Amino acid sequence: MTTNAFPDEAHRITWPDNFKAAASFTFDVDAESCTIAHDPTSTRRMSLMSHQSYGPRVAVPRLLEILKRQEIQGTFFIPGFTAESYPDVVRRIVDGGHEVAHHGYLHEPMQGIDAATEASYLDRGLEALANVAGVRPVGYRAPWWELNWHSPALLADRGFLYDSSLLDGDAPYRMAVAQRDSRDIDSRDIDSQDIVEIPVDWALDDWEQYAFYPGVTGSGVIESPAKVLEMWTLEAEAHHAQGSCFVLTNHPFISGRPSKAVALEQLIARVKAMEGMWVTTLERIAEHTKATVNEIHSHARIEIPSYPGAGASFEPAALREAALI
Ligand SMILES: [Zn+2]
Repeated sequence: MTTNAFPDEAHRITWPDNFKAAASFTFDVDAESCTIAHDPTSTRRMSLMSHQSYGPRVAVPRLLEILKRQEIQGTFFIPGFTAESYPDVVRRIVDGGHEVAHHGYLHEPMQGIDAATEASYLDRGLEALANVAGVRPVGYRAPWWELNWHSPALLADRGFLYDSSLLDGDAPYRMAVAQRDSRDIDSRDIDSQDIVEIPVDWALDDWEQYAFYPGVTGSGVIESPAKVLEMWTLEAEAHHAQGSCFVLTNHPFISGRPSKAVALEQLIARVKAMEGMWVTTLERIAEHTKATVNEIHSHARIEIPSYPGAGASFEPAALREAALI
């Protein structure tokens, strides 16, 4: 067994059945919901809607064939609105033996919303997945990976096993769900509930590599799949070497296009060929983490201390622009 000098010391884990690392291929089936949630008038744009519907209509069947050919199970995060719009696609995902997980109802923007509003999104999404495919998901991924401090408690209350939206680790860990803040970190009891967190990474999201739609999103550069394959292979090799967890996030309307799907299949084949790599769903990884990891991490909400000048406006975008002039 090769051992790398850079393990995630904050989130120690051992893998089952002599596996030395884990990998999961996840798909966020946003379809139209991620554009509608941010701009309801986007439904008037036929071409934009067609760009999004390419995901469930064309890409998901192609991706399911790839997963079948490679004999692996994936995790599909599906907004409730997508499930209601494409029920047959969701059933096909379930029939393929893949995991269906929660991704909001309409891919709602999560920043700054209160717990009651967020709870209503969660419940509506649960209802949609139950009605369409009889699925009660155990996993959740916040739209745009935007978890709120109150989110873990809402998830635990609904029986979720895990979340996959935070960015503070290379390996899964158990997370306390109590809402705490830094002022009372030593004095308050920790809620006995916890959920598993399986962290993600913007470098392992196809959005940053390929997403482009004029006036909607994107860097303006649609990268070569050859470059992306190289970059993601290096990430997978590093996770494999240090015994951590490689989690790739793909969006079917992006990575299900022809050359990108070919590159994805090549990546899956490479990752499968890594000795001792456990390629599985996030649900299996979460179950293993819950069963074998004893330590429970707490996240202390950050409160800015009072200091002279506190409250002065800080505009990173403006500062960046100024620096470019
Ligand atoms: Zn999404």
